[in-house]
Amino acid sequence: LLLAYDPVRRLARVQVNIERALVNARMIYEILDTEPHQKDRPGATSLKVSRGEIDFDDVRFSYAENSPVLRGVSFRAQAGKTTAIVGPSGAGKSTLFSLLLRFYDPDGGKITIDGEDITGVTKESLRHSVAYVSQHPYLFEGSIRDNIRYGRPDATDAEVEAAARLANAEEFILQQPEGYDTLVGENGATLSGGQRQRISIARAIVRNAPILLLDEATSALDNESEAKVQQALDRVMDKRTTLVIAHRLSTVVNADHIVVLEDGHLVEEGTHDSLAHKPDGLYARFYRMQTEKAQSLLDGGEQEEST
Ligand code: ATP
Repeated sequence: LLLAYDPVRRLARVQVNIERALVNARMIYEILDTEPHQKDRPGATSLKVSRGEIDFDDVRFSYAENSPVLRGVSFRAQAGKTTAIVGPSGAGKSTLFSLLLRFYDPDGGKITIDGEDITGVTKESLRHSVAYVSQHPYLFEGSIRDNIRYGRPDATDAEVEAAARLANAEEFILQQPEGYDTLVGENGATLSGGQRQRISIARAIVRNAPILLLDEATSALDNESEAKVQQALDRVMDKRTTLVIAHRLSTVVNADHIVVLEDGHLVEEGTHDSLAHKPDGLYARFYRMQTEKAQSLLDGGEQEEST
């Protein structure tokens, strides 16, 4: 008790909490392990993912009173398939991820995984079932090996290396001065954007979770890097239930299902073929814009920068 009144210790504790908060903010989603402050509901059970089917059922959510961000969103992400989420900026796409990971709980409706309402499961078990590949992969100061192993701390060296191979990362890792033991500067300053992304994909592969959340990068990579990242992503998406906030046309066109969000509403859903043929649909407009842009870039001979 005396310690609790010791101002130096209290300050030190405040400092630690601030640092933890900063680290959590930076790594949010990417690591997904439960922060100690987040309490589970009494009687929370451990999530057991069998098929990995995710249902959003009339999900409503606002960050602040009187400004709803999700206004009753329902759709199914089929087990083992890829569901692309598209829509204008601010439509609520990232918020779907935040709710699925339980950084927040819905104000109404529910999200279930294999029929189980995720508000009744422990956050730890939920987040262990999910891997996240973000637009801006977070790399910490440490070796490449440690950065990959962060996806699952008990992974063996052989598992880390197998993940790196699948992620098309091994070739450039072995070219580094110390191979897997090469230290990367904070946020991987010594690596290119495509290399950082492939380390982040290796991290997701080593995590081996049945559900994958992918926030596709908007920044352009050079063509070779792009192809390697895409192949790595195809491998990690294979057989996992994948939800992808899609920015690239090819991702959307190849997705098993497309969900179009606008201003917190699901306005359309279906396959590319079904949606592209609705002349006044938001998706058809998005598709036309993207193809025209791609064509004009091709005509101008520039590299495509997808948005
Ligand atoms: P983008 O493509 O620009 O990332 P998005 O479709 O992912 O957009 P969200 O990030 O889900 O949209 O944001 C939906 C709305 O919620 C926006 O109006 C945004 O300003 C707001 N918002 C998002 N995160 C927060 C937050 N932590 N606190 C308050 N408002 C937020």
